[in-house]
Amino acid sequence: MKNILLIATGGTIASRPTDGGLAPQLCAGDILSCVPALAGLCHIDALQLLNIDSTNMAPDNWLTIADCVKENYFRYDGFVITHGTDTMAYTASALSYLIQNSAKPIVLTGSQKSIYDQETDARRNLYDAFLAAQDDALFGVMLVFDGRVISGTRARKTRTKSMNAFSSIDYPELALLREGRILHYIRQQRPAGLPAFYEKLNPRVFVLRLIPGMNPAVLHLLLPEFDALVIESFGVGGLPCYEQKDFLDAVHAWSAEGKPIVITTQVPHEGSDIGVYQVGARAKSIPGVLQAHTMTVESAVTKLMWILPQTKNLERIEQLFYTPVAHDLLKFE
Ligand code: ASP
Repeated sequence: MKNILLIATGGTIASRPTDGGLAPQLCAGDILSCVPALAGLCHIDALQLLNIDSTNMAPDNWLTIADCVKENYFRYDGFVITHGTDTMAYTASALSYLIQNSAKPIVLTGSQKSIYDQETDARRNLYDAFLAAQDDALFGVMLVFDGRVISGTRARKTRTKSMNAFSSIDYPELALLREGRILHYIRQQRPAGLPAFYEKLNPRVFVLRLIPGMNPAVLHLLLPEFDALVIESFGVGGLPCYEQKDFLDAVHAWSAEGKPIVITTQVPHEGSDIGVYQVGARAKSIPGVLQAHTMTVESAVTKLMWILPQTKNLERIEQLFYTPVAHDLLKFE
């Protein structure tokens, strides 16, 4: 039997009703006791790292989770992290950068309903997560939900209420889970050598969603407070220029301060291609202006947070940003 560590962090899966609404109340042991079948699957130790609604999850918490995996890495065959669904995709992306080259599965899961609810998805998701965590053909950070195994860098919460809350964005699911069995869609290469753990993130990254007619003055206001910007643009990506109000001037100001700007799209699928239209192409050659291509916003944001403590050099930032990590970046060659 494999040894798996459960790291509990809260979320709906651990919630109970309180006077002020649902809040995490159950500890790791309570959660495990709701799925007795797990005892026949693997040996489990449990650790209560946090007990929060994932709305309150922040980069410091991601570092704490990564550190916990690092501390226990050689004692266990795999890891299950229970987590609220609301920001689970961000945590999955962040952990994909903080823990690289892991030959062991690190599986995030949660549920739309508390594990004590009669109609809950929690028991199934938890069982499936442990099934994935003790699988010999799954590696690295992934999210298990509603019978799907999704790469940590490709996950997004796409439904607020339904059980199929997560989608794998522009990338196939890694595997499917049905009735206690795994069907692998993608056979990953087992990583060779040791895992790489990173211990720093820079949270000073802002995401700006463009709306038609937005005043570019907002970019100047953000400049002193943030070290990198992700602009959720329109379509394949462009920056507006109205009379007297050109976003390019503001982008030059960021570039002059050595701060990168990543252009992505608010369209849910197929990513950016800023060279297609004049409104995008004219920004492309400005030093520090990058594009997300098919990276999710969750991945673009957390990748920048991971890159910024490593270098201030815009060329090096670009090099790191465009180096694929755990299926985050797919580009037409
Ligand atoms: N608000 C909850 C959380 O993210 C929602 C959930 O877990 O489904 O912690």
